[in-house]
Amino acid sequence: MKLDVNVLRYLSKDDFRVLTAVEMGMRNHEIVPAELIDRIASLRHGGTYKVLKNLLKHKLLHHDSSKYDGFRLTYLGYDFLAIKTLVNRGIFSSVGRQIGVGKESDIFEVANEDGTVMAMKLHRLGRTSFRAVKSKRDYLRHRSSFSWLYLSRLAALKEFAFMKALQEHGFPVPNAIDCNRHCVIMSLVQGYPLVQVKQLQNTDTVFEKIIGIIVRLAEHGLIHCDFNEFNIMIDDDEQITIIDFPQMVSVSHRNAEMYFDRDVECIIKFFSKRFNLTFEGDADESDSDAESDTVKPRFSSIKKASGFLDKELSASGFSRKEQDDIEKFTETIPDADDEEIEEDEGHNSSTQNESDVQNFGYQCSLSEDDEQPKACEKSGEKEVDQQDSEG
Ligand code: ADP
Ligand code: MG
Repeated sequence: MKLDVNVLRYLSKDDFRVLTAVEMGMRNHEIVPAELIDRIASLRHGGTYKVLKNLLKHKLLHHDSSKYDGFRLTYLGYDFLAIKTLVNRGIFSSVGRQIGVGKESDIFEVANEDGTVMAMKLHRLGRTSFRAVKSKRDYLRHRSSFSWLYLSRLAALKEFAFMKALQEHGFPVPNAIDCNRHCVIMSLVQGYPLVQVKQLQNTDTVFEKIIGIIVRLAEHGLIHCDFNEFNIMIDDDEQITIIDFPQMVSVSHRNAEMYFDRDVECIIKFFSKRFNLTFEGDADESDSDAESDTVKPRFSSIKKASGFLDKELSASGFSRKEQDDIEKFTETIPDADDEEIEEDEGHNSSTQNESDVQNFGYQCSLSEDDEQPKACEKSGEKEVDQQDSEG
């Protein structure tokens, strides 16, 4: 997905005010009636309509007149709101090249005034999966209250909270810098994803380090759940950094053992295929005479600490309910591998109605959100605080 940040420069205070008004309207409308946007933005002399046209031209909004004249945010529109907020907070001042495209995220380099380069991850939950989900009637019957904005925001919030907690416990993860809406800012990891590495100096050491991380995570009460060569970064000194945390679960999850084994198997499979490492794995101890073979850790023999997830992560702003919401979603989605990625998809328009979107939470950030129009927290229809959309 293209992110033309040049547009950012040409957007006025009023443009952002209207964009924010649409976002607020989306709390209880899938398509926000133009009249409501006008009321929330309350620009003088019908200025809202002119602005809407401009935002539409830049693809920050999508126009839908099938039921009534209305608008919704596109991913790009949501990106701009997050970027604008983080720029206003002084976190970064420029956006550079794209360094990663995940199935459900886009990653860019960003830099601050000092020239420090960081990584910006824009979550795109639902980009591929909602269309697949459309066919899942059961899913929709029970969980239609989830929208892509809500889920992407939750994924970012979760990733940020987990990264912070892991960092505090000495795990090799990027430094979690800030989070707003669906956007996480973290330190840039030097090195490359392990998948790109053809050969290692110390294969055994690297392998043991990686397996050691899986074990230590479990001892801290956590399972990564997507622990593979794409989410392990390695530098020239063969130092490891783990990334990508939105799908992590607690060791008390009912499928914990399966997830743990899957993470371990993934690494073993990769190391044996790519680096010809041999494993003793399933053999019992009496057979362990082959010195070079490595023993596979078992979930049942790990001493799990309790309370890490619940205590620290709920203290950091990620609630049990939010955890449940996102877990339910990531567990229910079918394998979207074959789904084609389309710009501005991930929007289950044909299946949501107003009562479905009540769950559309907005109290977004871990810290006090500096740009949320406070006057509008409940109804979404009161006046926007003028300073909130200022640049
Ligand atoms: P996804 O959830 O879409 O898989 P990831 O967090 O795994 O997203 O990031 C996708 C890719 O972006 C990674 O494989 C890596 O190449 C790059 N990347 C992500 N975070 C960073 C970072 N902090 N520093 C450098 N590269 C990163
Ligand atoms: Mg990944």
